Amino acid sequence: TDQATVQEIPRIIAVANQKGGVGKTTTTINLATALAAVGKKTLVLDLDPQGNASTGLGVGHDQRERNAYHVLMGDIEMDQAIQDSNIPNLSIIPSGPDLAAAEIEIPELDRPQFCLREAIGDVSGYDYVLIDCPPALGMLTINALVASNAVMVPLQCEFFALEGITALVKTIERVKKNFNATLDIQGIVLTMFDKRNNLSDMVANDVRDFFGEKVYETVIPRNVRISEAPSHGKPVLLYDHNCAGSKAYLHLASEVLKRENRSAA
Ligand code: ADP
Ligand code: MG
Repeated sequence: TDQATVQEIPRIIAVANQKGGVGKTTTTINLATALAAVGKKTLVLDLDPQGNASTGLGVGHDQRERNAYHVLMGDIEMDQAIQDSNIPNLSIIPSGPDLAAAEIEIPELDRPQFCLREAIGDVSGYDYVLIDCPPALGMLTINALVASNAVMVPLQCEFFALEGITALVKTIERVKKNFNATLDIQGIVLTMFDKRNNLSDMVANDVRDFFGEKVYETVIPRNVRISEAPSHGKPVLLYDHNCAGSKAYLHLASEVLKRENRSAA
């Protein structure tokens, strides 16, 4: 239903990992859709110049005139860049081509780490804001971490999953220490799990040994429907709501909500 009960202050979650192709965008889109489906007013902020989250939610390149770049740079108010998606309870601030330039423009601004926080800090009317980060630990990702309450880290179940994770954890710690004391790792989500491949199991076990309870029980399987959905401009939950990938993302959303309740208590 549309009867969302909206919190005063949204929970802002950055979906981050400096590796490309690990499932950040897929997780952002489908977690957002699953949260919206259970009545949570959700906003996706596409901070990746590649704009895959925008495309995946059906926002064409000709519909990105006012976008995340302009919000980030303080050129326009956040509200002016928010679009309704065609999914109830789900809105989006699309990516724009100028975001690539932002990496070099931001350092020249005052308090460069705080641009996004200043732009979206007083957002209201949403339960969740999910920020899809680019595959780098540059200024865009730093800005996302500074503006967020928590970070969600997708890890692909492949041999090099944990490689580079130290750099990410260090960046999160540095942001915590210097700019955003309450930033927390909301959780680690294992993606592209292949049950026919022993390596997937080994990697999943290693990640659980390393991160313990931070790892969600839900594991996102490698699922062809997930990879097909973006070309239809739809989250997999709308493309094929019965497939294993959709079920996994619904389950992840329920786990996220459970954790949120626990940390609020
Ligand atoms: P990132 O945003 O981290 O670069 P994406 O979410 O774009 O990663 O995923 C990379 C590619 O893998 C995309 O083509 C996406 O459709 C595909 N993909 C993501 N998750 C899955 C999955 N669970 N099963 C199959 N394909 C997936
Ligand atoms: Mg992406």
